[in-house]
Amino acid sequence: MNKKTVHDIDVENKRVLVRCDFNVPLNDEGVITNDLRIQAALPTIRYLLEHNAAVILCSHLGRPKGKPVDSLRLDPVADRLTTLLDRTVRKLDQVVGPMVTEAVEAMHPGDVLLLENTRFEAGEEANDRELSEDLAALADVYVNDAFGAAHRAHATTVGVAELLPAAAGLLMAEEIEMLSTALNDPKHPLVVILGGAKISDKIGVIENLLTKAEHILIGGGMANTFFRAKGYEMGDSLVEEGSVDTARDLMERASDKLVLPVDVVVADAFNADAETQIVEPDNVESGWRILDIGPRTVELFTENISEAGTVIWNGPMGVFEMEPFAEGTFAIAKALAKADAMSVIGGGDSASAVEEAGVSEAISHVSTGGGASLEFLEGRELPGVAALDDK
Ligand code: ADP
Ligand code: MG
Repeated sequence: MNKKTVHDIDVENKRVLVRCDFNVPLNDEGVITNDLRIQAALPTIRYLLEHNAAVILCSHLGRPKGKPVDSLRLDPVADRLTTLLDRTVRKLDQVVGPMVTEAVEAMHPGDVLLLENTRFEAGEEANDRELSEDLAALADVYVNDAFGAAHRAHATTVGVAELLPAAAGLLMAEEIEMLSTALNDPKHPLVVILGGAKISDKIGVIENLLTKAEHILIGGGMANTFFRAKGYEMGDSLVEEGSVDTARDLMERASDKLVLPVDVVVADAFNADAETQIVEPDNVESGWRILDIGPRTVELFTENISEAGTVIWNGPMGVFEMEPFAEGTFAIAKALAKADAMSVIGGGDSASAVEEAGVSEAISHVSTGGGASLEFLEGRELPGVAALDDK
């Protein structure tokens, strides 16, 4: 990576503003239901503390739209951090302002502060200059560890990076390293697995990977639009009529690379108690819908994966949220875990699926960034990365 990381800058006795991605899921009682993103930020925070920095953490949570929303305060994050770091993490109730300035001025090396949800300030999403200046005034150095927010040009991801020495945190560096190796310097054959609901969400990814990959395996709802382009009846399956031409064009350009399902699981309703059947894709009857790939497809895809040097996966193979339609997705996750290939997962739902399948540990890299990983796979430069200082 051509950007500076925390290893390349002097943080000793400095005040360091760290943008993290603490955008964690909360239940109705405001309890964190999955703290992976908090865990993923610990190496950078620990590194800074070991090097005698005073650490000022900040993050957004949810979509408060520029004003305080009590249910989106960062107190539960501060509590979890206090437990995980085994050190008091003091949470402030504002993002900037006299109270924040005072608290920051009283900091000593080894102290950790957490600012309030940055999206309580309207200037955050607007990348407002004044907010960026107020934030920059708090610290000597800025570190961005929020890969999941790197596709947004906001005050805490871009504005402040332009005003202070700016380096990538360790999570950010790892994300970029792994994703760019898979994308730009993969061990071949490169096999790409694409799924999810819609082809229109993934056109940019398909286009960018079409020339790089040897095989592109298509599953999930996305496959239905390809089947429609072949003239198959899709019953009640999800089909994007507006993208049928795109699917046809892709098949014409890359017929040798695209691998479509050879069997599918169909259901007579969109629920977990529905009647199901395994059929060939050109045999979907009216009243039925495709909700997963079938066992012969799992076998076909598994064979491809076992011969791969690198695998990039985005998008579940079926409606994995419902148990009867999760089998295809979980089987592919397990095939990936078993393969010798370097394996990289992008996309929020795909990451959850791999976690639910219980194989995250056996995957080379599961990205913490949903939207950011997709934009990266599209080959786009992420503004939060571009704003960091070059090496
Ligand atoms: P990611 O977040 O990993 O990028 P997507 O958001 O593109 O993935 O797709 C995930 C969604 O796609 C899931 O909610 C899943 O239920 C849905 N999906 C997968 N296969 C089908 C299908 N055959 N029909 C309808 N929805 C599907
Ligand atoms: Mg998704």
